[in-house]
Amino acid sequence: MGVRGLLSTLVPGLLALALVLLALVQARQQRTEVMDSTRARAVEVLQTVGLSAAVFLAQNDDAALDNLVSQATANGHDADLEVISVVSGDLHVLANSDPQRFNSVQDDAFTRAAVASPTPTWAYGANELRVAVPAMAGVRWGTVTATYSLEHMLAEVDAERSRWLVASGGVAVAVLLTLSGLLTTLVVRPLRVLQAGARRMGQGELAVRIPPMGRSELGDLAGTLNQMAAALAVERQNLESTVAERTAELRAANEQLERLAERDGLTGLYNHRRFQQALSQEVSRCSRTGAPMSLLMVDVDHFKRVNDLLGHPAGDEVLRGVADRIARAVRAIDLCARYGGEEFAVVLPGATLAEASFVAERVRAAVETTMNDVPARPPVTVSVGLATWPGDGGSVADVLAAADRALYAAKNAGRNRVCAASGISP
Ligand code: GH3
Ligand code: MG
Ligand code: MG
Repeated sequence: MGVRGLLSTLVPGLLALALVLLALVQARQQRTEVMDSTRARAVEVLQTVGLSAAVFLAQNDDAALDNLVSQATANGHDADLEVISVVSGDLHVLANSDPQRFNSVQDDAFTRAAVASPTPTWAYGANELRVAVPAMAGVRWGTVTATYSLEHMLAEVDAERSRWLVASGGVAVAVLLTLSGLLTTLVVRPLRVLQAGARRMGQGELAVRIPPMGRSELGDLAGTLNQMAAALAVERQNLESTVAERTAELRAANEQLERLAERDGLTGLYNHRRFQQALSQEVSRCSRTGAPMSLLMVDVDHFKRVNDLLGHPAGDEVLRGVADRIARAVRAIDLCARYGGEEFAVVLPGATLAEASFVAERVRAAVETTMNDVPARPPVTVSVGLATWPGDGGSVADVLAAADRALYAAKNAGRNRVCAASGISP
């Protein structure tokens, strides 16, 4: 049930309220009716009494008058008649239901007005009704006054009113309780569920779903919130995969950049900067551990001739070829770099003079045997200078200088050979 259903429960509530008001209005009307009918009855009774009283007064029959008055109150004709009195024009009591009051003066505002009035008069007090009629038999012989108690009748009216009020109040309370129960079931509880769900969604828990609430406005709202959360979850998924894609691309680009920053563009070997770094790291590591290391300086023999004869592109081709032979001939842990121009350097961690000599010879032989099958190209060979730490120098500069000396020695000795720094005479 939705708000429309809720509104329809308001109608019984208003009806119950109307019932209470109706009970009050009716009780008031009943009170007026009771008072009016009592008065009419009283006037009727007194007119009969008045006629007899006038006759007895005319006959001067006091006994009959007293009898009439006492009978009127005693015979139970009217339980509500309390006092009946016959008064003269000068307000003297001629007869009274209380015989003690005979000949006393009944001087009050009501009696005075009644004696002066040619027609019946009446007045309402708090719980009583006073009525008076002229006692006529040809002429006026006096006035009959009576006091009626309204207590009994009004008490009945009040009891009736109380019964009505209790009944309609009960109905109203029942309707209000039902209404508040309905309000809790139909609105307050679903609203709390909605609020809790929306809060969790707002905190990013997009897998949360608000349970179905039927076909009502709140049910529609719950459905819309669920759709929103689902759409947001899809969006977030897309966003996350986009971010992951971009991150992977960025990582690849960074790796590429790093690779480019330490590689030589022509040969793909490490560049001069990276070589210097590796050599320093290796020398300091050896200084710490005492382990040996070696360095090769490789220079292409008469390289200028290739450029001069076949042009720089052919020279570049030779440089790439030599780099490739060096990389294949060294060990996996060795670091090959292009030192500059047609010179290359190899750092051999942990390699003794003997091990480094072996690798150097393998480099030289690989170039000589695999790079000379191109017709019309000057022979391609390399000279290799070898230095070892700590035998040929304690610092980076010393090791480098020793390798350089060895390389020049190899050149001077006729090229296409390996020369160790420790083997050359100073
Ligand atoms: P040696 O045997 O004494 O080393 O003689 P060489 O001709 O190899 O030595 P030299 O120092 O006289 O010549 C080296 C040449 O290498 C000079 C230079 O033009 C060339 N060269 C340096 N870098 C490159 C390059 O990247 N590509 C090409 N094609 N040539 C280069
Ligand atoms: Mg050179
Ligand atoms: Mg050279």
